[in-house]
Amino acid sequence: MSIKVASITKTYKTQKALNNISFSADKGQIIGFLGPNGAGKSTMMKILTGFVKPNSGEVLVDDIDVLQNPLAAQKTIGYLPEHNPLYSDMYVREYLQFQAAIFKVDKNQIEACIKKVGLTAEAHKKIHQLSKGYQQRVGLAAAILHNPSVLILDEPTTGLDPNQLIEIRALISELGKEKTVLFSTHIMQEVEAVCDRVIIIKKGEILVDKNLADLKENKQQTIIVTFDYKIEEQFINRLPNVVSYKNNYDNTWYITFESEEDMRSKIFDFAQENGLKILGLNTENKNLETLFREVTQ
Ligand code: ADP
Ligand code: MG
Repeated sequence: MSIKVASITKTYKTQKALNNISFSADKGQIIGFLGPNGAGKSTMMKILTGFVKPNSGEVLVDDIDVLQNPLAAQKTIGYLPEHNPLYSDMYVREYLQFQAAIFKVDKNQIEACIKKVGLTAEAHKKIHQLSKGYQQRVGLAAAILHNPSVLILDEPTTGLDPNQLIEIRALISELGKEKTVLFSTHIMQEVEAVCDRVIIIKKGEILVDKNLADLKENKQQTIIVTFDYKIEEQFINRLPNVVSYKNNYDNTWYITFESEEDMRSKIFDFAQENGLKILGLNTENKNLETLFREVTQ
């Protein structure tokens, strides 16, 4: 097991940040860690990396107990903290040499890391001269210098422009081919684009822990239909396989079905049988964004 978190609780004075959190990850998974601000994501990451002690619970990384043996665990962990603290007055290569010296990493790794994160053309510049996207690459290069098997990335794409986002996502995917990655983000599409699995937390508790493939296999579908005049609830109930419905605007219904067939054709037949006209008929895309809103609101 690459990561194992068992019953972690963390309280800052009176503020409960994590409440009995448990999850584990197999080698090579890329996990998106989602949750509103203040959910406890950064706290969980600081505990995983051995920088914060929980009140109770157990954390193993690569089968090493982080609480008992933080230094050994940190050798297998690459960590990019939130806000990516860098020495901005240093040159990129100089900074990585400095990091390598502190962490007693073989200097020969530096050029390979520069290449891996796409910094070759920027390595002679001062860090503050780089765009935010390239600064993130410096943070990522520093995180992988010692060739860790687990990467913990705290909001690595926050504040990037759309092109930089795509580049850093691609880099995370690339690194995920050989490492277990846990990264936090606010962007659902990012999780859909990059991750195998999503964990959603709120107020220190896990609300969702699912493989993305399972989310996509959801047999429920929500159809948004607008009829030409107001109809009563009991009409909607006559449709087969209805799970729930709501009527936001007068003539528009959001109807959720449990069915593998496309229920739009059933609604079409239903309208015809009842002398109704359909003015709009769409399937709502049940993606991570709708799931996130459903569970965190
Ligand atoms: P997230 O990263 O999901 O935004 P955090 O882990 O930073 O969440 O914070 C979780 C909760 O713990 C928040 O309510 C936050 O205010 C609180 N918190 C975080 N760090 C500290 C700290 N050092 N002292 C006191 N409270 C903290
Ligand atoms: Mg945070």
